Order: sequence, then structure tokens, then C-alpha cells
Amino acid sequence: MENNGKSSLENPETKQFLSELVGPEGLDIVSALCGREATDEELAEETDLKLNIVRKILYKLYDYRLATYVRTKDKEIGWYIYTWKLDLGRINDIILARKRRMLDELRERLAFESSNVFFHCKVDDSKIPFDMAAENQFKCPHCESTMDYVDNQSTIMGIEEEIERLEREISKSLSL
Ligand SMILES: [Zn+2]
Repeated sequence: MENNGKSSLENPETKQFLSELVGPEGLDIVSALCGREATDEELAEETDLKLNIVRKILYKLYDYRLATYVRTKDKEIGWYIYTWKLDLGRINDIILARKRRMLDELRERLAFESSNVFFHCKVDDSKIPFDMAAENQFKCPHCESTMDYVDNQSTIMGIEEEIERLEREISKSLSL
């Protein structure tokens, strides 16, 4: 189903995603395009944004298949006119796919954190696993300071909580 934008801007999660994707100026473009068609020039005029910025935002949306355009030739001036509209129907799928990727990365990080012991440098706040620290006689590879053992239990718990939160969100959006 085609989604002309309004419900996506009312949903905090999709609004957040759009704002990360196209920034606050992009959100202005999305609201200006809600429920209608408009040319890039009309949008630039209405939002007071530069035409090249408007186009950049529109093509970004197009890259994600969240907007489409029709190209027509103006018979009088001979230029092409691009008329745009939103198609936010895929937005929930995109957000879900992104969460799954984040979940995979977190699981990898969890495995790495749980199966390693780490050493930390106070000077530049870097952290390396035991093997690397031992090879370096427990001196920081960046600044040569002595490195200290870190208890990464709280890091592990933080990752686990984040994983649970994502898993809940994913299963919630699948059951909708
Ligand atoms: Zn250091």
C-alpha cells in the first residue's frame, strides 16, 4: 500500500528514522510532500531551502525507495520537470532490517566481550584484548602507558540489555 507520509511523521519511531536519514531539513521536505505531488522547485520555494539541497534530500529518499518521481518535458521552455511524491510504504521494513543488522552486530560484540579479557589505558581510554596486551608487555600501543585489567561485566550487561530491547521491538513489529 502506498503511504503518503502523514502517518509516518506521526509515528515517533519512523520520524526518528527519517530524521537520521535526511536530517531536519529532510523532515521539512517530507512534511511538505505529505499527501501530494510537487516539483523540486516548488518544494525549494515552500521550504526556503536551496534547490540543490532539496534535490539531494529527494534523491536520498529515492535511493531508499521512499519517494518516486515522474519526469515530464516542459514544452515551452524545453526543460525537464521532476514531479515528486512520497511512498513510505517500505519504511517499516527498512527499520526492521536495520534493527536485525544491529542485533547481529550486538550479538557479535557480546560474543567478543564474553570470550575475552581486556586491558585499558587511562590516558587515551583505549581498550584491547588480553592477547594483544600481553604481546605488548601490557603497555598501551598508542602511548606506552601501563594498561590495567578491566572488568567488562557491566559492558556485557549493557549489551545484553540492548539485545533484549531490540528482540522485543522486533517481535512486536512482526506481530503487528
Ligand atoms: Zn594509551
